[in-house]
Amino acid sequence: MQSTAFSSLKLNPALVSNLATLGYESMTPIQAESLPQIIDGKDVIAQAKTGSGKTAAFALGLLHNLDVKKFRVQSLVLCPTRELADQVAKEVRKLARGIHNIKVLTLCGGVPLGPQIGSLEHGAHIIVGTPGRIEDHLNRNRLNLDNLNTLVLDEADRMLEMGFQSALDLIFSLCPPKRQTLLFSATFPEQIKPIAKRIMNDPVTIEVAEAHNTETIEQLFYKLPHDYHRTSAVRLLLAQHKAASSVIFCTTKIETQDLADDLHSYGYSVMSLHGDLEQRDRDQTLIQFANKSVSVLVATDVAARGLDIDSLDLVINYHVSRDPEVHVHRIGRTGRAGGKGVACSLVGEKELNKVARIETLLNIEVETIELPPVALLDEPLQQPTMTTLQIDGGKKQKVRAGDILGALTSQGGITGKEVGKIQIYDTWAYVAVERKVAAVALRKIAEGKLKGRSFRVRQLSS
Ligand code: AMP
Repeated sequence: MQSTAFSSLKLNPALVSNLATLGYESMTPIQAESLPQIIDGKDVIAQAKTGSGKTAAFALGLLHNLDVKKFRVQSLVLCPTRELADQVAKEVRKLARGIHNIKVLTLCGGVPLGPQIGSLEHGAHIIVGTPGRIEDHLNRNRLNLDNLNTLVLDEADRMLEMGFQSALDLIFSLCPPKRQTLLFSATFPEQIKPIAKRIMNDPVTIEVAEAHNTETIEQLFYKLPHDYHRTSAVRLLLAQHKAASSVIFCTTKIETQDLADDLHSYGYSVMSLHGDLEQRDRDQTLIQFANKSVSVLVATDVAARGLDIDSLDLVINYHVSRDPEVHVHRIGRTGRAGGKGVACSLVGEKELNKVARIETLLNIEVETIELPPVALLDEPLQQPTMTTLQIDGGKKQKVRAGDILGALTSQGGITGKEVGKIQIYDTWAYVAVERKVAAVALRKIAEGKLKGRSFRVRQLSS
């Protein structure tokens, strides 16, 4: 049997001791299978989903290949969305802590080019970004990949689904042929094979059986009677399961927006997440959902990638997915980090064949059950306890989380317990506070309690 201790790997000891301080005690299955191969310099194709520890698998690989003294771009990680790229960069930085002066730069679309150009001029060892923006920088000769030793494709299936093929082709053509290529993907559509063949050198394929670890997730399949309105069914499920945070998966952008609008009109605390939204709106939606200011998120599969929320109590599938792998991916959003989760699927009469595919993949037998009683709709709706304040001051203004917490709690009125997640960006910050203290919090910040000056602040509507 393979050892699951990180110390069994031929890794830089500085990286290994840092892993211990991060609380990574042993390798996850995908890490135990892939890391020995990755560290051995092999090209690897790995089937892995979010939550499996895949990021650390490739991040340790690229850090292993890195020569920090050589200040050139040595690794490139390509991700489908900015949210995922941000998370990957965060994880890489965390894992790189054992080695000094490693510079990680994110280059994603949807944000201004200017600061990225400035950062590129300063140089970096590791670039994490989305294909379109990287292509853009390459086309303008702002980015040079001549010294690249590791290329990573994270969530390759989604990148192809999102139409990044031509950007990827250009990027591949500018990577040196002698390099290590690591490809991670939750599913393997036909399109991937020829690409892998073209850009990889004798790759090792890794698939971990536990990828379908759905045991901690309670799956419920609700029979949708003929002509039954799906929105009403969703309302019944929300009423029955009373979750603090739920995600509802829809198939198309229009369906997503329509359902969110419908639920909103019934008084739910709901937001939508799909590709047609501006980046800033997507960011604010994710922030509000993650800090519990919004309790229901309606999302497309693609947009929900990069959603990194540990305590998601409920997943609802508005339709059963045609692809059973996608189904597994969706329900895997709940029951993470050892917690328990519930995944409900609405099954129309014509969707039984899709359920059969899930039964085969997961080796389970599904029994469809009746929807909860309609009387549940008379119950009052649960509202989130938190709300989000946006402050017009961030890293550039040297605003830190401690400053915000201090400003809110000093001189009474608000206790630390009533303050939730605080997130600081370049020029603004978000803080979640309990709704009942929102007015006091707004006043404290507007009246100059933060760093001794007054910042513009507003409560986000949700
Ligand atoms: P990922 O699948 O890369 O999104 O990782 C899921 C989460 O697991 C991240 O929050 C990681 O920080 C964490 N993680 C990754 N590897 C380990 C490990 N070996 N032990 C404990 N936590 C881990």
